[in-house]
Amino acid sequence: MLENYYFDTDKQRFKPLDRICSYCGNATVNNEDESFYFKIFKEKSRLDLIVYRNVKYSEINLGIPRCTSCKDLHKKIERQSILTLIAFHLFCIGYILVSISYINRMPLGLIVFSCIIYLIYFLIISYSSFSSSNSDLLKLIQIVLSLKYKILSPYEALDKNEFIKKLLENGWKVESPNP
Ligand SMILES: [Zn+2]
Repeated sequence: MLENYYFDTDKQRFKPLDRICSYCGNATVNNEDESFYFKIFKEKSRLDLIVYRNVKYSEINLGIPRCTSCKDLHKKIERQSILTLIAFHLFCIGYILVSISYINRMPLGLIVFSCIIYLIYFLIISYSSFSSSNSDLLKLIQIVLSLKYKILSPYEALDKNEFIKKLLENGWKVESPNP
């Protein structure tokens, strides 16, 4: 629990004391600054009125122990996930444009298949805009890409950290409450 962390007053964050990397599960952490740091929030009070909305919350910045190799792999995975997401959008938009221009020459089966693709893509886009970004999609791609390197993606280790697990069970959230 908290005994596995100490508060770094210079950087105002909780540094992990565990020496075993949470992502590959065997390498030793050489430098705590290479750990994965993220913010966690807890709403203190919420006042909702029609014209006025005020959210007060606490936030803490804490790290999950990570070795140098996993840090480098996470950087690589992050780049690859962005490229994969761009390629995915380009492919889907390309498919939609090409299929619509040939739709009157397509057999019924292919039209039905295309409509299913449009619907799935529409749902993904709607979901992404409701969650205000593509971050959920990026996280999902990162989980899949991490499998290739046999490590956990940055946010996957959250559930395995006892201290963070306790915070999440007590109402702390990884997403910042909307102001
Ligand atoms: Zn590691």
